[in-house]
Amino acid sequence: MLSGLPLSDIIHNLAAVKQHITDAARAAGRDPAAITLVAVSKTHDSAAIRPALEAGQIVFGENRVQEAKTKWPALRQDFPAVELHLIGPLQTNKVRDAVALFDVIETVDRPKLARALAEEVQRVGRNPRCLIQVNIGREPQKAGADPDAVDQMIRIAREYQLDITGLMCIPPAEGDPAPHFRALAEMAARNGLAVISMGMSGDYPTAIAAGATHVRVGSAIFGARDYG
Ligand SMILES: *Cc1c(COP(=O)(O)O)cnc(C)c1O
Repeated sequence: MLSGLPLSDIIHNLAAVKQHITDAARAAGRDPAAITLVAVSKTHDSAAIRPALEAGQIVFGENRVQEAKTKWPALRQDFPAVELHLIGPLQTNKVRDAVALFDVIETVDRPKLARALAEEVQRVGRNPRCLIQVNIGREPQKAGADPDAVDQMIRIAREYQLDITGLMCIPPAEGDPAPHFRALAEMAARNGLAVISMGMSGDYPTAIAAGATHVRVGSAIFGARDYG
């Protein structure tokens, strides 16, 4: 895990992203405090993450359970207020670690996974908040529930008594993400879900204009990644 940027750049970038979030919120007539920055630290080591923690960043996103397990228990000891989000695909055989490690699981996308999570929640009595990931662009290679099956997926996850608080999406890499962001916000509204996780380094102001409550920003803070 290489950390490309000098640590002072990470602090500078974090401040700049926060300012852009504030600007985008104001431009959309929204309260900047209604938007949470999820700092995506995947592929970056603890040395790169610490300066962000010391600068007051609390919410972080990781996309691999195994990687999070190697980095976050030690960081959490020093920064107990941390809120950790899983933003990558979750296999059912990793559910035990995921429930133990994460405060929010953003990638619940199929009934089998919802069921496995529910069983683990029952077993350990720890109930992370969950988002349903939606394959908003109906891309065959992408994870996420089909947009036409989202309401049903939410119903199933609620029947399993998961704490479903919102929706998450990654729009297609090509084309205008705005219609996809608006579609996700509409799905959340009609299901009474408050949390809308959308927008990454390239498009988070657009996502904020469309109603994002959580933006997941990695490379604009930590620099380019070698993989992931
Ligand atoms: C990596 C990742 C991000 C952050 O992407 P950047 O373009 O580096 O901001 C956001 N969401 C998910 C699901 C990711 O995997």
